[in-house]
Amino acid sequence: MSTIRVENLTKRFDKLTAVNSVSMSIDEGEVLCLLGPSGCGKTTTLRMIAGLEAESDGDVYIGGQRVNQMSPSERDISMVFQFYALYPTLTVAENIGFPLRSEGLSKSEIDGRVDGVAKALQLHEVLNRTPGQLGEGEKQRVAVARAVVRDPNCFLFDEPLSRLDVTLRQTMRGEIKEILNGLSKATVIVTHDQLEALTMADRIAVMRQGAIEQIATPHDIFTKPANLFVAGFIGTPAMNLLSGQFMEYQDGLARFDICGQQVALDVDPAVGNQSPGSDVTVGIRPRAFELSSEPTEHGFTAEVDLIEPMGAETLLHTMAGGIDIRVVVNRSQKVAVGERVNIVSKTGQNVVFGKDERLIAS
Ligand code: ATP
Repeated sequence: MSTIRVENLTKRFDKLTAVNSVSMSIDEGEVLCLLGPSGCGKTTTLRMIAGLEAESDGDVYIGGQRVNQMSPSERDISMVFQFYALYPTLTVAENIGFPLRSEGLSKSEIDGRVDGVAKALQLHEVLNRTPGQLGEGEKQRVAVARAVVRDPNCFLFDEPLSRLDVTLRQTMRGEIKEILNGLSKATVIVTHDQLEALTMADRIAVMRQGAIEQIATPHDIFTKPANLFVAGFIGTPAMNLLSGQFMEYQDGLARFDICGQQVALDVDPAVGNQSPGSDVTVGIRPRAFELSSEPTEHGFTAEVDLIEPMGAETLLHTMAGGIDIRVVVNRSQKVAVGERVNIVSKTGQNVVFGKDERLIAS
């Protein structure tokens, strides 16, 4: 069975704890993305699963078997790295078939497998070329093909798309996801690109400073971030995190004192467990605001400070009580710098964090 489980996995480099007691399990056929800022320990975690880095503490299980003492080849994992080393003198077909040669398969078996994978990754027309005669996207596809042509215990991808341009990344995200869907293997993908994680993962593990902050589906990570770090890390433009005080919860609305203004927002009744006057942070995504012609208690009155065109949408930086509140509006909405606007929170999209920075209501 293709599963991966790590328990209290820890890696220390002298005084630095690069990975700090990470526990998670990836089911058969599941794609888990390790997502986090540079240096948070993603690659080190992946390398310990692969057996390329010895753990300082903790256990790695593949297919239910503890593999701590096994070499990378005994673990039988297929890996795709950011710097995919293709053999420059071999053709695409030979590069893809290379891992099968050591498995003692016959030439016709190898040709059959290479053909199947090449078709799935749209490489069948370049099978006779060498890597030097390929574009970046094609080279990346060859690296993926070489990994998936075998039948390993599981797959590990380390920033597989980071060398591609935006358009190619978009195409490859879909292609890799589709290929993985058909393979029923536990897969871990390391990325610092949240769009990659949100589109490719069944679940995302958000890491910070060697530890996992939250593991959940992309939808839950986006709508119910476990803490302020995840809330600020996921989503572009970033969620507004507005400090203030909770006042009361009544008739389905929570009242807050934020940015020097009293606002009544639609949030989960769980916020009512806070005592009046408690310090909280209210999270409102820039797209969860809209402009209103009249001031209402469901939002803020603010002054437009900066306007950033983003194609079909426009990002407004507005100031309320000295706090920058980002609002995304349709580009057809005309506003000017210095104008006073009423920004209203749409219903059901607000989250609240307590003083300990953890989610209390969503
Ligand atoms: P990036 O996205 O930049 O690749 P990452 O999240 O993958 O970052 P790691 O490469 O796992 O992070 O590194 C985690 C921490 O461990 C970093 O502070 C890094 O400098 C440190 N580190 C990694 N490898 C070693 C090593 N061999 N010796 C000492 N420190 C290391």
